[in-house]
Amino acid sequence: MIPEAHGGHLVDRLVPERERVRREGEARDLPLIAPFIDQVYDAEKIGVGAYSPLEGFQDRAALESVLTAGTLPNGLPWTMPIVLTPTGQTNEQIVRSVRPGDEIGLTDAGGGLFALLHLEEKFPFPRSRVAQVVYGTTDPKHPNVADLLAAGETALAGRIDLVRRLELVTGANELTPAETRAEFVRRGWKNVAGYQTRNVPHTAHEYLQRCTLERDDIDGLFVHPVLGRLKKGDYRPEVILEAYQALVRNYYPSDRVVLASLSITMRYGGPKATLFLAIVRKNYGCGSYIVGRDQAGVGSYYEPYACQRIFDDYPIGVQVLKFAETFFCRVCGWMASARTCAHSPDQRLNTSQTFIREALSKGEPLPSEIIRPEVARVLSRGDVLLTE
Ligand SMILES: [Zn+2]
Repeated sequence: MIPEAHGGHLVDRLVPERERVRREGEARDLPLIAPFIDQVYDAEKIGVGAYSPLEGFQDRAALESVLTAGTLPNGLPWTMPIVLTPTGQTNEQIVRSVRPGDEIGLTDAGGGLFALLHLEEKFPFPRSRVAQVVYGTTDPKHPNVADLLAAGETALAGRIDLVRRLELVTGANELTPAETRAEFVRRGWKNVAGYQTRNVPHTAHEYLQRCTLERDDIDGLFVHPVLGRLKKGDYRPEVILEAYQALVRNYYPSDRVVLASLSITMRYGGPKATLFLAIVRKNYGCGSYIVGRDQAGVGSYYEPYACQRIFDDYPIGVQVLKFAETFFCRVCGWMASARTCAHSPDQRLNTSQTFIREALSKGEPLPSEIIRPEVARVLSRGDVLLTE
C-alpha cells in the first residue's frame, strides 16, 4: 500500500488560495527575514508536507532529540536538523528584536514574502556540535559543514504558514507530496520505489532502476532528483531533468515511471542523510526505497554501506532495496556487481561523473555502455554547467 506520511499525517501548511491576499496584506507590517536559500527551500517543503510530521522549524528540544537519539521527541526516527538560523546584519538585528509569540515574514531569493513563521522559541544554535554529530566531522572542507559553520548563532523555531509556493527553475516538475500520491493512486500503484539522485543518469543508475522494475512487488518507480542549490561546475537543474526525461521517454514503459524534481539542498551526511531522504520519499508516497553504495556520501567521510545499515537501527516502515556497487564489465559485456561478476576490477568501465564530464568537455564520444546516446546528446550541448 502507499504508506501513510511519516508520523501518520501528511502536513499541509499551505495557505488556501481564498485567504492568500488577506494573509499577505496582514503581513505587510511584519518584521521580515531573508533566510539562506537552503532554508527557504526547507520552509517550502515543510509547508507542503515533504518533511511531515514537521510543521515548522525545530525547537531546542527537537534538535536535542535529533542529535542525541536520532529521533523526534516522540521517538519517531529523524536524523537531520531542520532549523532556521538567519545570518547577515539586517537579519540578525531582527533576530535580536523578535520575541516568542511574534509573527515573522520570510522572504525568498527575489525578496518577496512567501511564508510566515510563528515564533515559538529563540535558542543558541550549537553549530560545530551539530556538524560533529550529524556529519561526523567539523572539517570545513565538507560542503555542509562549511555551511553550518557559517550559519547564524541563533535559531528561530516555530510553525510555518506557506503563503505561496516558490517559483523554481524546475517549474511544473516540482510536485508536492499530495500531487505524487494522487498520481500514484491514479495509476493504480500500491508499492512505489523511490530513487534518489543528484546527477544525470548513466547506465549504472539505469541498471538499479531496471533491477527494481523487474521485481514483481514493485508497481512503479519514482525518480526524484535533488535539484536544490547546486554548485559551480554542476549540471544545471533543468539539464539533469532533461537528461532523465530522455532516459525515461526513450527506454522505460511510460506507465511504470514518474519523474519529478525535489528542490532542497543536498545534505551529504552519509547514513543520516540517507535516512532523511528516505523519510522524505515516504512522505511523497514511496513504500520502497532504493539505496546503493554510499548514498549521500561525499569524499571518504562515510563507510560506503553504512547508508544501508542505518535502516536496521531506525525502522521507518519502508522496504529498503539495497544494492551493491554496479558497473559495466568488459568481459561480462553487461552491467554487473561483485555479486554477479567473476572478473577483475580492471575490467570495469569507469562510469564516474568526473570521467563523463572530462570526456564531454574534450568533445570525446562516450561509449553507450556508460551513457545512453539520447542522454549524451543533452549533455553535449553548450551551457549545461552552472557558471556561478
Ligand atoms: Zn564480469
